[in-house]
Amino acid sequence: MNDCLFCKIVKGEIPSTKVYENEWVYAFLDIDPQAPFHAIVIPKEHIKSAAEINGENSFLVAKVFEAVAEIAKQENLQKGFRVVNNCGEDGGQTVGHIHFHLLARRNLSWPPG
Ligand code: AMP
Ligand code: ZN
Repeated sequence: MNDCLFCKIVKGEIPSTKVYENEWVYAFLDIDPQAPFHAIVIPKEHIKSAAEINGENSFLVAKVFEAVAEIAKQENLQKGFRVVNNCGEDGGQTVGHIHFHLLARRNLSWPPG
């Protein structure tokens, strides 16, 4: 996906502040943070959204959550955190590469708006 913003971030063509990386996953700070700690965690492989998850690629969602647990340890998020996936237009997705918001270091209200 040549014109995908997050694919360009994975390739280093657009700068980002990396918080975690492994073979499958890349995580970086959100440019418009909604909490004192706000990272975006993505599979390196281009998948458009949660609606495109299937038996072939679902292991990458597991890899994302393994990375979330590693980041939580690395960033000392013992008090907790929230993982959010926005999917499609009504879900508020603005970047067409599946991503998981990792929000922490404040008390997060529920339910979300
Ligand atoms: P969503 O609205 O769920 O699609 O989330 C997209 C997120 O990507 C938003 O929270 C944006 O602030 C974030 N974002 C957009 N461009 C960048 C960028 N260049 N670097 C870091 N985060 C970005
Ligand atoms: Zn992409």
